[in-house]
Amino acid sequence: MSSSLSAAEIEERIEKDSGPLNEKVIVKRSTAGTRTVYHNADDPCYNVDATGYRAGPERITRKEAQERGLAPCRGCIIGREIPETKDNELYERAKHFDPDVHDSLADVDLGGTD
Ligand SMILES: [Zn+2]
Repeated sequence: MSSSLSAAEIEERIEKDSGPLNEKVIVKRSTAGTRTVYHNADDPCYNVDATGYRAGPERITRKEAQERGLAPCRGCIIGREIPETKDNELYERAKHFDPDVHDSLADVDLGGTD
């Protein structure tokens, strides 16, 4: 994983972030120049209290973060809009579906041993 994003990548990610511009987001405190993303303030993808910085994360508005050239985090902002695990579960159910045994996909037991 590269730690820096191109301007085009940042722009592309911001387009996928539909959150309100005046909503607070959080930015990890870090050494200068290494911050590239902002996180969901209500449900960040990392443990805010465990980052080890005395002051904790910085809280700024989404608008301010975007003006600083930061991109929305794929883990807790963009990622939430594309629930991959759910799609994967549906795929697993479809794969194990047996019309002789199951009435619907919901009846498929994913924990079964083949
Ligand atoms: Zn995040």
